[in-house]
Amino acid sequence: MSQKKTEVYAPIDIESVSFRYGQQNVLENISMKIEKGSFLGLVGPNGSGKSTLIKIILGLLKPQNGKVRLFGERIEKFQQWDKIGFVSQKANSFNSGFPATVFEVVSMGLFGKIGLFRFLNKHHKRKVVEAITSVGMEKYIHQNIGQLSGGQQQRVFIARALVSDPELLILDEPTVGVDVQSVQQFYTMLKKLNQEKDMTLLLITHDMGAMTDYVTDVACLNKTLHFHGNSNEFVSNPDLSSIYGHDVHMITHNHGGH
Ligand code: ADP
Repeated sequence: MSQKKTEVYAPIDIESVSFRYGQQNVLENISMKIEKGSFLGLVGPNGSGKSTLIKIILGLLKPQNGKVRLFGERIEKFQQWDKIGFVSQKANSFNSGFPATVFEVVSMGLFGKIGLFRFLNKHHKRKVVEAITSVGMEKYIHQNIGQLSGGQQQRVFIARALVSDPELLILDEPTVGVDVQSVQQFYTMLKKLNQEKDMTLLLITHDMGAMTDYVTDVACLNKTLHFHGNSNEFVSNPDLSSIYGHDVHMITHNHGGH
């Protein structure tokens, strides 16, 4: 019996993309392929075009030039948005005391799949518990989200994105306002998701900090793509540290999170 070979398409394939707001060029000729199973850290200073690029990938902005493919399909035709999970720094908005438990917040991640909360069946409930366990928050499942620390809340938001089993998870500055120790635990958790579930991760940050110890690849953006490659290659390239304002040699000492 012949077996049909299924091709593995890159979750994200950006080709010669340029974008401007009015007269201001924000992205110039960006080409970047994010392969399945990679964990890419996208770094760049504030105003370098990171959010704009993410909006283009999520189909919220249309570039004036270039092509974007998601899982092999032109973005204009792409419909399988449930393959993509998105977590932003703005997700962390429950501090005001919205009375929802961890279980309830994570259940909201199924809205797109099942519609209303009251239709959660046994299978869905199990998915919710699994997602909460995968981010190490099972002890807090019935706790109110407003009572958790920033780092713990951010884990819950990851669980909400994971509950629908995305193949690609995009995180936009997820560690803003999270203390240094929690950031390392957070990156360790992401690395585990990447390695154990073969999930493709795109992590956007203006601060590369300890991130280079956890990711497989790094891309440096500042209107154009200055670098895209293996994270070891990035760390051993002293020129990049001056562009991105950090001493990469200091960062290489930080291997505590493995
Ligand atoms: P980053 O996420 O790296 O901080 P952004 O993509 O948010 O960068 O912004 C890139 C540039 O585009 C900045 O100069 C910013 O001021 C400008 N910009 C962002 N959003 C808009 C908008 N809606 N209208 C006009 N200019 C914008």
